[in-house]
Amino acid sequence: DLFYRQMPKVELHAHLNGSVSFSTIEKLMARKPHLNIEHNMTAILSGQKRTLDECFQVFKVIHQLIDTEEDILMVAKDVIREFAEDGVKYLELRTTPREDKNTGMTKRSYVQTVIEAIRQCKNEGLDIEVRLLVSVDRRHGVEVAMKTVKLAEDFMRSTDGFVVGLDLSGDPTVGHGGDLLPALQKAKNCGLKLSLHLSEVPSQVDESELLLNIPPDRIGHGTFLHPEVGGAQSLVDKVMKNNTPLELCLTSNVKGQTVSSYSNHHLLYWYQKGHPIVICTDDRGVFCTELSKEYQLAASTFSLSREAMWSLSQKAIDFTFAPDSLKQQLHQKWFELHPSLF
Ligand code: IMP
Repeated sequence: DLFYRQMPKVELHAHLNGSVSFSTIEKLMARKPHLNIEHNMTAILSGQKRTLDECFQVFKVIHQLIDTEEDILMVAKDVIREFAEDGVKYLELRTTPREDKNTGMTKRSYVQTVIEAIRQCKNEGLDIEVRLLVSVDRRHGVEVAMKTVKLAEDFMRSTDGFVVGLDLSGDPTVGHGGDLLPALQKAKNCGLKLSLHLSEVPSQVDESELLLNIPPDRIGHGTFLHPEVGGAQSLVDKVMKNNTPLELCLTSNVKGQTVSSYSNHHLLYWYQKGHPIVICTDDRGVFCTELSKEYQLAASTFSLSREAMWSLSQKAIDFTFAPDSLKQQLHQKWFELHPSLF
C-alpha cells in the first residue's frame, strides 16, 4: 500500500545484521562463495515460522557473511538507504560490536565503521536521520557487557552525537538479565539511553522486575508483561507509571512464534490502554518485512484507520533518543507532509 510507504515513519527497533536485505546478502554471498550459504539460511520467508532458537541460528549464518569492516560499511549503508526508500525519516539502528581475529576487525573498528556509514549516507543527502544504539548481547555475561558500555560511552562522547544509547538483546532463554544490572546501571549513569528487550519469552517475571527498576527508557517487545499471558500486574503498573514506550514488532513475533497470531499480538492490549507504543521491524531482512508493511499489518489486523496509524507514527518522534531540536524538526516534517497524504 503506497500510503504506508509514503507516510513518514520512525524506526526504533532495528538490529543491523537482522536488517540486511536479500540483494545485499547476494553481494555478500558473491564475496564469500566458499561458505555455500543459501537464501533460506539467512531469511524466514513469507508463511514460514521458526522457533526462537532457530531464529538465532540464522544470525550465526549472517555473521559468517559479514566479518570485515568492508562488509559492515556496505551492509550499514544499504540498510540505511533501504529504510529511507521505505519512508523512514528517523532510524535508530542497534548492533552488537564484533571482533574477528582473522580479518583484524575489532569491536572499536566495528562501531567506527557503522558510524562512518551513517556519515556517508548523511553526506550523500539521504532524507533520513540515523542514530546508533550499541547492543549488549546477554549471552556474553557481565564482563563483556561492562566493556561494551565503556565502548558505547567513549563513542557517545567523541562522535557528534551519533551514539545515543545502549540496547540489551540476544537469546532471551540464555543467561539472566539480573547479572547485567551493574553494566546497565553504569550506562544509565553516564547518560546513555536504555532500550531493553524485556519479557520476550514467558516467565521472566523476576528478571523483568529487576530490569524495570533501573528503569529503562524504552522496552523491546514486552510480549509477556501482562497478567493474561503469565506476566504480572505489578510489571504492567511499573511500565505504566513510568510511561515507558514499548517497541512492537508484529511479523518478528509471529514468525518467531512467541505470539500465536497477528490478532493475538500484545499491541492491542497496550494500544487500548493508550500506552506509548512504536511499531518496528526488529529484523527486516531475516523476517522479510518493511516498516511500511508492519504499519499496514497493524492497521488491517486491528481495524485502525489511516489517521490512527499516522498518529502512532507521529507520536513515535517523542520516543526517540534524539535531542529535542531534532525532535522538533521531525515534528515539523510530519506537519508539512500531512496534507499531501490526506
Ligand atoms: P547485530 O547485533 O547487528 O549483529 O544483529 C543481530 C543480533 O541482534 C542477534 O545476534 C541478537 O543478539 C540480536 N537480536 C536480533 N533479533 C532479536 C530478537 O528478536 N530478540 C533478541 N535479540 C535479537
